[in-house]
Amino acid sequence: MPRPAEFSFRTRKNYLAQLAQEELDILVIGGGITGAGIVRDAALRGFKVALVERRDFAIGTSSRSSKLIHGGLRYLQQGDVGLVMEAANERRVLRQLAPHLARPIKMIVPVHSRTGYATIRAGLWTFDRMARVEKDERKEMLDGPETLKLEPLLKPQGIYGSGVYYECLTDDARLVIANIKSAAALGAITVNYANVTSFLSDAGRLTAAVVKDTVSGAAFPVRAKLFINAAGPWVDAVRLLQGEGETPKLHLAKGIHLIVRHDRLPLTHTVVMTTSDKRSIFAIPRGEVVYLGTTDTDYKGPFDDPMVEEEEARYLIETANRYFAVDPLTFADIVGAWAGLRPLLHEEGKKTSEISRKDEIMVGSMGLISIAGGKLTTYRKMAERIVGMAALQLAEQGVTMPLQPKGKSEAATLVGGDTGDDVEQFAADLKERWPRVAAEVVERLVATYGSDAERLIEDIAADPELGERCSPELPVTRAEVEFAVREEMAMTLEDFLERRSRLLLWDPNNGITVAPAAAKLMKTMLGWEERRVELELARYRRHVDDTKAFLNGGIDALPKKVAHAG
Ligand code: FAD
Repeated sequence: MPRPAEFSFRTRKNYLAQLAQEELDILVIGGGITGAGIVRDAALRGFKVALVERRDFAIGTSSRSSKLIHGGLRYLQQGDVGLVMEAANERRVLRQLAPHLARPIKMIVPVHSRTGYATIRAGLWTFDRMARVEKDERKEMLDGPETLKLEPLLKPQGIYGSGVYYECLTDDARLVIANIKSAAALGAITVNYANVTSFLSDAGRLTAAVVKDTVSGAAFPVRAKLFINAAGPWVDAVRLLQGEGETPKLHLAKGIHLIVRHDRLPLTHTVVMTTSDKRSIFAIPRGEVVYLGTTDTDYKGPFDDPMVEEEEARYLIETANRYFAVDPLTFADIVGAWAGLRPLLHEEGKKTSEISRKDEIMVGSMGLISIAGGKLTTYRKMAERIVGMAALQLAEQGVTMPLQPKGKSEAATLVGGDTGDDVEQFAADLKERWPRVAAEVVERLVATYGSDAERLIEDIAADPELGERCSPELPVTRAEVEFAVREEMAMTLEDFLERRSRLLLWDPNNGITVAPAAAKLMKTMLGWEERRVELELARYRRHVDDTKAFLNGGIDALPKKVAHAG
């Protein structure tokens, strides 16, 4: 997959100038996974398409998920066969399009009774057949001692056995960026920090969206034949911009995750745990850390940067403490946390956990196409359906697709996706070819940027200054910061540390030790004044503190019950 030659603040400026002048076929509103999938699909079909994101790409729900590409096992429990097959197929496709963003991991489901064992065995057997799981990834059933051998950290008391199956681990924000960059490489315009504040219409049809560039403060109309609202939790807010006659449709459900150091909970595999109220939650090891999640509760608070509550954290910690043979975890062990909002469609009389996770398309009276619900896992298929529908509407307006599309959505690899199936082998080959670049730097770059790592490594080998570390204890190099600014449109320190490098989550110090060097480099590249550097650093520190504000509630407060919906 070709990359855009540059995808930076300069590109952004040019894109904004283009947006002010040209009429588009489609304007996509929202730069989460839904919008990113749509803009890529539309660009592949040859449409003149743009995407605008109010803050940074992936800043909403799409950087706050459990980061699993589900094969669809959980939909089997809900009896939704169609969704099982779709999720399983999408998982296969994504493993081809971006192998580094869909890495298979073993999931262990410990059970404590013969009945539990039989239920899991039947469920996994059905799933293997229904989802056409490859032979070497089919379920395994283990007895008690085998289970403890596979995951020695489990408490041995009462373990009857376990079921083992596979899911894929992704990085949600990186998946968004990969789709955005792929779309840009195909000619789409994709801009962050560009907020749709209102619509213009003529004769009952939308003709333009007023977009505010929140960096310069300038606002201007962007004309398009069709508008697609992929604003996640903000879908209703954007729908209501059309004016009278629209009613809110969303039901937001909050989910949180906690991060602890891996040496505090040294798991070798992902464990599926059952909570006191019979929900399944995960403990997922990832490099230096393990994360626990998630919860599923009604949400009514502010949509930007939802906060983790103390009771929610306690609920997860208590469940983990029932499963693992380590000194009980306390709030003092939590090094990070995140909270996200599921944009589900309200279903009368249904509790949060009963609401379908299926996507739904709504068409407004003035033609605005809105999409809500859905999953990270099925984003590509969802995009295909929406752009298919958009294509029909555009055809009615006389816009036809070129005979020769630029590629097929299920076959065109994503930017960074050219590692081949075996990502570890790809990294091993690079290590052999570039022995002067530290092995841990190569590993980090491949895990984060896939095949794009190759060029970063070549750059480091050619210019050792680029290989300088931003912090002595981490394999994060100068090259990575420069890459984020030059080729991933990082505009703030938080963009780099949270959504490009993911250090906020996967570094137990939340990227704090990297921040000063990264800010200094960004200053040179983005032309910041010294004051801006101080501001960015202070903002980032405050942001890190905010993600863990619930810890100030005190470790010893009495447990309260979390009101889970089911
Ligand atoms: P978002 O990512 O929120 O994107 C919407 C974007 O629109 C935002 O970035 C916002 O800033 C922007 N926007 C809003 N208003 C405007 C405006 N006026 N102008 C311009 N831009 C605007 N799915 C899975 O498949 N696997 C999982 O493991 C998984 N785990 C999850 C765990 C949790 C706790 C949660 C909450 C969800 C999980 N999901 C999972 C679901 C998945 O994360 C979501 O379905 C998906 O991320 C939604 O993406 P989105 O693009 O629709 O919304």
